[in-house]
Amino acid sequence: MAEITIDGIAKSFGATRALEQIDLSVADGEFVALLGPSGCGKTTLLRIIAGLESATSGRIVIGGRDLTEVPTRRRGLAMVFQNYAVFPHMTVYENVGFGLRMQGADEARVKAQVGKAAELLHITPYLDRYPAKLSGGQRQRVAVARALAVEPPVLLMDEPLYNLDALLRLEMRAELKAVLREAKTTTIYVTHDQTEAMGLADRIAVMHGGRIEQIDRPTAVYERPATTFVGGFVGSPPMNFLPVSVANARLELAGSSLPAPRASGDLLMGIRAEDLMPVAAGEGLPFDIAVVEPLGAHDLVTGRSGATLLRVAAPAGSGHKPGTRIGLRPDPKRLVWMDPASGRALP
Ligand code: ATP
Repeated sequence: MAEITIDGIAKSFGATRALEQIDLSVADGEFVALLGPSGCGKTTLLRIIAGLESATSGRIVIGGRDLTEVPTRRRGLAMVFQNYAVFPHMTVYENVGFGLRMQGADEARVKAQVGKAAELLHITPYLDRYPAKLSGGQRQRVAVARALAVEPPVLLMDEPLYNLDALLRLEMRAELKAVLREAKTTTIYVTHDQTEAMGLADRIAVMHGGRIEQIDRPTAVYERPATTFVGGFVGSPPMNFLPVSVANARLELAGSSLPAPRASGDLLMGIRAEDLMPVAAGEGLPFDIAVVEPLGAHDLVTGRSGATLLRVAAPAGSGHKPGTRIGLRPDPKRLVWMDPASGRALP
């Protein structure tokens, strides 16, 4: 079993508090993405799990073993980092087979595993080349193949698809997901790309300012963000937040009366772009259209309702025009309520 327990990990670099108090459990065979903006502490957390960085406090336990004081090479982990160098003096074949040889695998097994990993990462044509003769994206795929070839129980990855073009990234993402699921590898994957996290992960830990703001399944994080930060960071476009006033535990909004989670006061109403239905002017919330972007699958319509900027995913080709006013009707089943002072979701 290779479940991972991160227990009260904190880290300061001098006066910089990179991680506040991180508690996270990853089940055996689970894929967890650490998602967040630049500087939120993702890489630091991954490096602490790997033993490349020591925590200021807290424990790392993997498969029931407390590894906090155990050096990296004895933690039994495989890792791929964004700038994780491949060995320049070894061919691609030797690079990918390196971990297996270190484990004492015989040549037949090395060959079989290297072949499989190379096939998966589309690097079979380059097996005899040296890394200097590869592109950045090809070298990155060699590093991923090298980690996968040993079929590790635990795999740590930091932006491993960073150097790849969009199409290859999409393809690698799907293949990586399939292979890790089949091998039941426990994986922690750092990314700042929310579509990558949504697509790959069983659960996403959304990080902000050295803390985990929410950890949940991708659809739950998307539909029921725990904070305004999560709603704004996960999903493209970001979740809309409309300031509203509640009285008698109801919100009177654009001709409809909705139950509210508080008796009275100011709240933020969170709603996704696809849950705002365009209706005729004079119905629903008044909405002044500023920009219409035809994105293929839908038209992204940006504008204002009063002072509030809103984004609406309208059906493709719906013919909305900048400078005109329409109405918007929020789907009452898809609302989330946030406390404007704390930015936290209300039950
Ligand atoms: P990115 O996506 O940009 O890599 P990240 O979320 O991985 O960002 P970290 O690299 O973990 O963020 O950095 C977290 C914080 O700790 C940042 O404020 C960073 O400046 C700081 N930090 C990281 N490493 C060090 C270090 N070796 N010395 C001092 N400060 C550091």
